[in-house]
Amino acid sequence: MTNTLKEQIEMIDTAANLGNYEKAVQEMDWKNVEQNFTWSKTGKVNMVYEAIDRHVDEGKGDKKAFIYCDSNHEEEYTFSDLKALSCQFANGLRSKGIEKGDRVFIFMPRSPELYISMLGIIRIGAIAGPMFEAFMEEAVKDRLLDSGAKAVVTTPALLERIPVNELPDLQYIILVGADEAAEPYQLLFTDLMQSSDEYTIEWVDREAGMLLIYTSGSTGKPKGVLQVHDAMVHQYLSGKWVYDLKEDDIYWCTADPGWVTGTSAGMWSPWLNGVTNVLRGGRFDANEWFETLEKYKVTVWFSAPTALRLLKGNTDELPKKYDLSNLRHMLSAGEPLNPEVIRWGLETLNLRIHDNWWMTETGSAICANFRSNPIRPGSMGKPLPGIEVSIIDDEGNELPPNHMGNLAIKPKWPAMVRTIWNNPERYDQYFLKGWFVTGDSAYKDSDGYFWFEGRVDDVINTSGERVGPFEVESKLVEHPAVAEAGVIGVPDPVRGEVIKAFITLRSGYTASEELLLEIRNFVKTNLAAHAAPRLFEVRETMPKTRSGKIMRRVLKAWELGLPTGDLSTMED
Ligand code: ATP
Ligand code: MG
Repeated sequence: MTNTLKEQIEMIDTAANLGNYEKAVQEMDWKNVEQNFTWSKTGKVNMVYEAIDRHVDEGKGDKKAFIYCDSNHEEEYTFSDLKALSCQFANGLRSKGIEKGDRVFIFMPRSPELYISMLGIIRIGAIAGPMFEAFMEEAVKDRLLDSGAKAVVTTPALLERIPVNELPDLQYIILVGADEAAEPYQLLFTDLMQSSDEYTIEWVDREAGMLLIYTSGSTGKPKGVLQVHDAMVHQYLSGKWVYDLKEDDIYWCTADPGWVTGTSAGMWSPWLNGVTNVLRGGRFDANEWFETLEKYKVTVWFSAPTALRLLKGNTDELPKKYDLSNLRHMLSAGEPLNPEVIRWGLETLNLRIHDNWWMTETGSAICANFRSNPIRPGSMGKPLPGIEVSIIDDEGNELPPNHMGNLAIKPKWPAMVRTIWNNPERYDQYFLKGWFVTGDSAYKDSDGYFWFEGRVDDVINTSGERVGPFEVESKLVEHPAVAEAGVIGVPDPVRGEVIKAFITLRSGYTASEELLLEIRNFVKTNLAAHAAPRLFEVRETMPKTRSGKIMRRVLKAWELGLPTGDLSTMED
């Protein structure tokens, strides 16, 4: 089996979009990328113009911009439709005195209205704040207070989670799917959409705020990351080079716009490249997801390790029921992608899965397994040409290859965070000796591939050995019984820390002493004795962020009986 993987990966073609990676690195100049935007000639900048309006101006108005679908219905919108509808919403906002720089939040399930609102907000130069629908009152209040939001677009069902009386800056609640406004501060989405569709756009500075996105809260209280219009330069290039989008692609990114992937990779990268986007509402459902791929003939699919592990945990028979032959390749980001999942992708889906690394603060892909470079399973790939990535020690000195250290990026790149909202001190903490320090621990191999070890705070020290949780988790999920794994260090008087593994089992397996011993020995034999967990706990589910990341800090707090901290982004 391992051979098949190795052989197949070696076969991965090297002649794709980037052509020659090394050459691209040498010749890369952001100034050249900027030539792809109208503003390089006109000086007039707005993300929405470049992502939507320009396609209409260039005669592609009738092309499908997106297909929205969920379990109950589907709708299609062309670039012309989106231009007109977002102008209507923008004119509606303007008529209520909302203007450039104001924060307007969106708190609702994925739907066409969500995307139209986002475009309308950014069109008038206001800052859009996407918020995942599952947030409860405290989390909603935190974000609306912190951002000083002037309006929120939401649905009647979510209304009760917005504590209006405690939000002094909030002037309007815009209701989607309601026929009646019960309070003077409530506006109907449909009323705002009665506004004229006369063309409107606010030309802004490249450095003007565009999106305020709160981080996932894996390691602590979420931070309000400000992304500016200039991010388009980077997001366009990630679409072209990392996701390898071509004009005729049908692209589907499963992320919700409440997380950075859902806007950056879910809206801007495809639309800046003029590509038709599938936007699916509703929750994860293995059958429906495969149906979506088949029905819309999706060619490029972007999802996250958590979803892939769930699909894999299901059954290998399921994908065989669907025609997935249109798929060219897959992308994965948000968490490390276990090599076992890459193997499963090749063997079961006949697909190459390209892991790429980034964070809310980077605004778009930083490291990636490019189409033109062989995939190294378990590696997050190489830096996007134009971006310098390095491994530094705690003093800010660069480390040679094969040394574990802090993953760091040389500022500034176009989609980089420009400030942490209301918290400039936190922003300053990212920087060390001219580097942006990510908080992740990694090393670079002799060929320039980067390998993720874990969050700096999650790295385990056992009997004097450093162990990255990701490596142990990846080995655990290679065992046929293990669906998901979360690994932490537990303080131990003799060894410093011992490794504890929390696991969920694949369907068909039940927990037993023998099974756990077998799993432990599996890690011992296939990874290292010191890296084999001494403690196990079998769970029904893992504590995860709503974006699907395993929350090791929560496992640790449970284990040690400590306070769990901010849980606003945790799944139920
Ligand atoms: P918070 O900053 O609030 O604690 P978070 O870091 O999970 O939450 P995000 O910005 O959504 O919030 O996630 C970025 C992090 O996700 C990265 O720092 C990294 O740890 C992890 N990550 C993202 N993509 C990858 C990848 N391809 N491989 C490994 N880790 C990844
Ligand atoms: Mg983070």
